[in-house]
Amino acid sequence: MNLVKRTWADVDLDRLERNWRQIRVVVPRQAKILGVVKADAYGHGAVPVAQAMTEIGLDYLAVSSFDEALQLRHGAIMLPILILGYTPPEYAQKLAELQITQTVPSALYAQTLDECLAGTGRTLNVHVKFDTGMSRLGFSTDDPTIASLTKLSHLRVSGAFTHFAVADSLDPSDVAFTRQQYEKFSEAVKKLEALGAPLELRHCCNSGATVLYPEYAMDMVRPGILLYGVHPSADTEPRLKLEPIMTLRTSISQIREIKAGTSVSYGRTFTAPHDMRVAVLGIGYADGLSRALSGKMRFSLHGKSIPQIGRICMDLCMADVTDVPEASLGDEVTVFGDAPALSAAELAALTDTIPYEAFCVIGKRVPHAYYRGGERVDLLRYIV
Ligand SMILES: *Cc1c(COP(=O)(O)O)cnc(C)c1O
Repeated sequence: MNLVKRTWADVDLDRLERNWRQIRVVVPRQAKILGVVKADAYGHGAVPVAQAMTEIGLDYLAVSSFDEALQLRHGAIMLPILILGYTPPEYAQKLAELQITQTVPSALYAQTLDECLAGTGRTLNVHVKFDTGMSRLGFSTDDPTIASLTKLSHLRVSGAFTHFAVADSLDPSDVAFTRQQYEKFSEAVKKLEALGAPLELRHCCNSGATVLYPEYAMDMVRPGILLYGVHPSADTEPRLKLEPIMTLRTSISQIREIKAGTSVSYGRTFTAPHDMRVAVLGIGYADGLSRALSGKMRFSLHGKSIPQIGRICMDLCMADVTDVPEASLGDEVTVFGDAPALSAAELAALTDTIPYEAFCVIGKRVPHAYYRGGERVDLLRYIV
C-alpha cells in the first residue's frame, strides 16, 4: 500500500511513546493510564494508535461509541475498552462477549441493560458516570437511585468516574471549581462503595487534570490530547514537554505565474497586488482545511512561510510562493506540525477553535502513514 502523496498525515508513534513517558513521570505510580482514542484517535487513526498504545504499555482505552469499540476489537486490540457514551441496550450481550466496559449514567439505563442480559449467562462490566459540574452525562451525586445499581445481577459495577469542566486552567476560580468537582466525586464514590459496589477503577483526570492535579489521579487517569503531543491549554505547557505526533502535509499540484490585478479563487476575494508566483495545493475543506481559514493561514515550504491566498476550495487552495523561487511541482508543503510550520493549536486559533477540532475534521480521504523506530510500519500490520 503505497501512500499517494497528495495530502496525507504522517503519524510518529515514537513520539507517542515519548509523550506517554512524560505523562508517566507526572502521574503517581499506582495510577493506571487510559488512552482516549475516541473519534478515530482524535483523527490520528484508532487501530494503529491503539496498537502502539498496547505495545507502549497503556492500561486501558476509551472510545465514545459501540462502533468505535468494535473497530478496535476487529483490529485485534485486546486492551480493556471503556465506552464513554450511550450504547443501545440491545447490544448488551455483545458488549459482555467482547469484554467491553459500558458507561452507566442513569438507573433506568442500567436496569434496561440488566434486563437485556437476563438469560444470557453474561455479566457486563460497567463504570458509573457521575456529573459533578458539566451538566452532561451522569448521575447527579445526590441521586438516590444509584442504590439500585448494586442490585442488578448481570452488571458488575467495577468503576466510577466523572469529568472536569475547567481542569486545564489555573485561574483561581477554575481551581476552586475543579476541587469542588473532585470532592463531590469522592463523596459519591464512598456512597457507592458503601452500597457494596466492587469499585476497582475510580478516575476523573482528563489531560488538564493529569498534568495540573496529580493528587486527583485516584486509580487511573484519562488523557487524550496529551498523548497526541498537544497541550489542552497554555497553563499545562510549563509542566511537561510534548511532541506533536501528527504532521499534516500536502503537495504542489501546479505553479502559476499571475499578473498584477488578477483575482484568485471563488468570490474573487484576493487580487494580486503585483506579479506573483502562485502554488496550487492539493488540499481543501474536504480534507479538513476549514474554509473559514481562507486568507488567514500560512503553510511551510522549504523552511519558509507561504501565505494562503483567496478562498479555500473543496479540493484545492492557493498559496503565494513569489518569495520561494525553488518551489516546484510536487514539493511537500506542511500544513501543521513542528515549527517553522504552524502548530495544530496555532492553526485552530485562527478560526477561534481548539486543536481537538482541527484533528477531528481531517477528511476521511486523507491517508495516514505511521512511523515507529523511524520506519513506515503501516504496510501490513495495521491493515484490517
Ligand atoms: C474526551 C474525554 C477525555 C480526554 O480529554 P482530553 O482533554 O483530550 O484529555 C477524558 N474523559 C472523557 C470522559 C472524555 O470524554
